Amino acid sequence: MWPILDSQEPMPIIAATWSLATGGCQGAIAPLIAGGSALDAVCAVARATERDPTVDSVGLGGLPDATGHVTLDACVMVSPAKCGAVCAVAKHLDVTDLARMVMERTRHVMLAGKGADDFARALGMRESNLLAPAARAAWERWRTGGETPPSHDTVGVLAIDSAGVMAGACSTSGMAYKLAGRVGDSPIPGHGLYVDPEVGGAVATGNGELVMGVCGTFLAVELMRRGSTPQEAVREVLERIERTYSPEPHQQVGVIVLSRDGRIGSGALRGGFEVVVADEQGVRLTPAAMVTHPDTPEVKR
Ligand code: ASP
Repeated sequence: MWPILDSQEPMPIIAATWSLATGGCQGAIAPLIAGGSALDAVCAVARATERDPTVDSVGLGGLPDATGHVTLDACVMVSPAKCGAVCAVAKHLDVTDLARMVMERTRHVMLAGKGADDFARALGMRESNLLAPAARAAWERWRTGGETPPSHDTVGVLAIDSAGVMAGACSTSGMAYKLAGRVGDSPIPGHGLYVDPEVGGAVATGNGELVMGVCGTFLAVELMRRGSTPQEAVREVLERIERTYSPEPHQQVGVIVLSRDGRIGSGALRGGFEVVVADEQGVRLTPAAMVTHPDTPEVKR
């Protein structure tokens, strides 16, 4: 594996998007400090969020597409040569674990749709009905014109373990009421998640279409490779999105960057984006360090 620090002991740390990751981080930080792997930690945070039926943007309880079907996307990454992803999964809940199986047990990077569900079944994973009653009711209200689409929040997680290895995971049900077949940034290496152990990692959340055209997380890591601090990298990614798309006031993107030596940068287009940090000091939820448009209404869950 790749040692991160030359002179100091690595400090185990987890950084994750939105308050919805808090419970998962509380469960994952002790095993990480006790010597667990970063990959196990990021999968544990994502899995806990996927299984939480009160989270309407990831896993069970996720809001469906326009036709009323929930489809899930996820990605895990340890290095450019070691990543795995699934998208448009319709029948299985633990999609981050499934993405990890793609990484560890196949010669491929991404499986989509029925092929991903078939792979999960072949692994012995249990099928689930992903449409929770509350999500169905919300979709019915939206369909009949009574509800505008709520914001949509991916769980994106980065961690460094005590061996100095970094890993990342990203899991989402995607944009609420999306067109059937739409896949966003989350499961694609370099878009919703990127990890390069020589440099660090980045995760993105929010309107995936705004992240994909600028390869947002790849860009953040490349900026760090060329000397930017994590916070400078976040700022430049958001500025690039701004220049490229002139986002509308309701559109949000949040970015977290973690350098190989454990420094965190964070930011968002609008207020409301929060970062969960877990380490030996405990688990805390903090607002993003920078906001491009503090003058526009907050976009949060
Ligand atoms: N980025 C995700 C997507 O566009 C959604 C989110 O972060 O809420 O699918």
